[in-house]
Amino acid sequence: MIFYGTNGKHYATEPLPGTPCPACQAPDGLHVALVSRYAHVYWIPLFPYQKIALTQCAHCQSTWEEKQLAPDLAPAVRSVKTHHHAPAWTWAGLVLVAAFSLYGYLRSIRDTHTDEALLASPRAGDIYTVRADSSRRYSLLKVRQVGGNVVELVANEYETDESTPLNSLNEPARYSKEPFTLTFLDLQIMRRKGQITDVDRLAPAE
Ligand SMILES: [Zn+2]
Repeated sequence: MIFYGTNGKHYATEPLPGTPCPACQAPDGLHVALVSRYAHVYWIPLFPYQKIALTQCAHCQSTWEEKQLAPDLAPAVRSVKTHHHAPAWTWAGLVLVAAFSLYGYLRSIRDTHTDEALLASPRAGDIYTVRADSSRRYSLLKVRQVGGNVVELVANEYETDESTPLNSLNEPARYSKEPFTLTFLDLQIMRRKGQITDVDRLAPAE
């Protein structure tokens, strides 16, 4: 369940000097209170979407929303409103989301480069995550030997919905005993067709 919603926060108060209160005529009682309305997810502010300017009289406590203001007051209030931006923290969530996306994007580029490099020079022990055509089932192929431009592989006999099945499937007993061979070119073609979705070279066991 995702908790999200909107919230409002008072973030600035500006006096409106030289304007008498329309209600009590006090000369210097008016000020404008600015409220930022913002969207939040799990109480982390995402982005501001509305500014509210409340005009209040410190003297008689009268309060006016913008649409209730007399025409002679409205421009001064609007000017206060446009000169005070919503506080930066109301953007915190969106900045976080952007930072995470960028991080994920950069990491996926790096992973892809690594995958291509590993696939171009196979080594015994390499594990390929493979996806059957037009299915969302994943399994593994393990390189047993490399010779010339041919790899000898064994197929994992299990499959799973997980796109990263390495942890759940990679046990020696789960691989077929019947090896088969593919050429380096076969591997490249499978990669280009999206049949090999990941390449892992695990650190050798100590
Ligand atoms: Zn007043």
